Amino acid sequence: MKGRFLMLRVNGQRLWDNLNEMGRIGAGERGRTRLAFTDEDLEARRLLVRWMEELGLEVHTDPYANIWGLRAGREELPPIVVGSHIDTVREAGMFDGVLGVLSGLEAVRALNEAGVSTRRPVAVISFSDEEGGRFSAGTMTGSRLMAGCIQLEELAEKRDQRGVSWLEALERSGFTGSSSILRPHAYLEYHIEQGPVLCDKGARIGVVEGVVNLSWMRFTFYGQANHAGAFPMERRRDAGLAASSATVALNRLAFELGAGTVITSGQALQEPNLPNIVPGRAVLTVDLRSFKEEVFASGLARAEAVVEEEAARHGVEVSVELLTRLEGAVFAREMTELVERTAGALDLSSWRMPSGAGHDAQIMSRLCPTAMIFCPSEEGRSHCPEEFTSQEDAVAGADVLLNCLLELAED
Ligand SMILES: [Zn+2]
Repeated sequence: MKGRFLMLRVNGQRLWDNLNEMGRIGAGERGRTRLAFTDEDLEARRLLVRWMEELGLEVHTDPYANIWGLRAGREELPPIVVGSHIDTVREAGMFDGVLGVLSGLEAVRALNEAGVSTRRPVAVISFSDEEGGRFSAGTMTGSRLMAGCIQLEELAEKRDQRGVSWLEALERSGFTGSSSILRPHAYLEYHIEQGPVLCDKGARIGVVEGVVNLSWMRFTFYGQANHAGAFPMERRRDAGLAASSATVALNRLAFELGAGTVITSGQALQEPNLPNIVPGRAVLTVDLRSFKEEVFASGLARAEAVVEEEAARHGVEVSVELLTRLEGAVFAREMTELVERTAGALDLSSWRMPSGAGHDAQIMSRLCPTAMIFCPSEEGRSHCPEEFTSQEDAVAGADVLLNCLLELAED
C-alpha cells in the first residue's frame, strides 16, 4: 500500500447508537417505514443533515433531493464519495442503506478526531428513493437521475396510491437544491448483504465484484377450458399444467446454468381458477438474474426455449412479454482489490461475490470507479423487521470503508 502507515478505526458504539436513533424514525408495530418523501423520510433527512452539520460538512442537495455532506480536501479535486440511502421499504429493518450512510459519517468523524486531512475532498451521500416502494418509478431513482439515466420529466406521471406524483412529492419535500451534479473521483458503498452467503462461508466482509443482470418476463399460456369430469386426460390442453411444468423446468435450468444464476417464478395465475374446470389460460412471471453477461444471455434464450417446449408438450400456445431488463455492473478491479486488501490488513476474512440485489453503486459505476463492501446479514434476512447484523460485523465493515476511503482520498 503506497503511503499508508496508519489504520484508523471508527467509534463502533457511536455508529451503533446512531443506527438505533435513525431506526426509531418511522417505527411502527412491525419494523419502521420511511417511504421516499413521506414525513418519516423527511424526518430522517433532517436528522442526517443535522449530523452532517455537526461534523462540519458542507451540506449540498441537488435538484433530485440527493443529499451529500462535503469535507474539503487539501486540493480542489473531484471527491471520493461514500454512501447509500436512508429511505426504506414497508416494515423494514434498520440496516439496509442506513448502515452505509451512517458509516460514512462515522468515517468522517474518525478522520476529524484523528486530525487527518486528505488530498481529495470526501463526500457522504444519501440518494433519494432507492427502494422505490411508494411510486411506480422503479428503484434507485435518485442515483439514476444523477447519472442521467432518466430525466425528471419522466417522473411527472409516476404516482403513489393517493395520486401524488414523484415530482410533486419532490417539490413538497423542501430538499431540492441547486448544487451542481456531483462528479465523483470514485464511489464506495457499504451495505448489508441481504442474503446468506457470507454467513454460510464464515466470511466477515463481502468484496462485491458487481451487480447481477436482471430480467423479468411474463409468459401467457393459451389452452382450452373444459369440464374437469367429462373431458379425458389425453385430450386436454391444460394451460395451468403447462405453466406448472414450465416452473419445474425453469428451476432445473437455473441449476444447469450455474454460476450463481437464480430463476424465480414468483407470480402464477390461472383462469378460470375453479376447482372443476381445466385451466384455459395461465400467466407465469419469470425473474432471471445472473452476474456473467454470457450466462445471462444464454439463460434468457434457454428460458424461453424451455417454456415453449413445455407448452408444446401439453398442446398449449404460449406468448412472452419482456417486463424489465436491468443491466448489472462489473465494478472496477482496482476498487475491489482495494476492498479485499484493506479487509486483509484489518485481519478480516473476506469473500468475493456479486450482489444479487440492485444498489445505487451499479448506477454510480457508470460515472466513476466503484465498488461495494458487504457485511453479513443474519440468516440472510432483509426487507423485514428481522433484518439483523451484529454490532461487531457492522463496525468491521465500517472500518474497511474508513481505511479504503483514506487510501482513495490520498490517491
Ligand atoms: Zn439498500
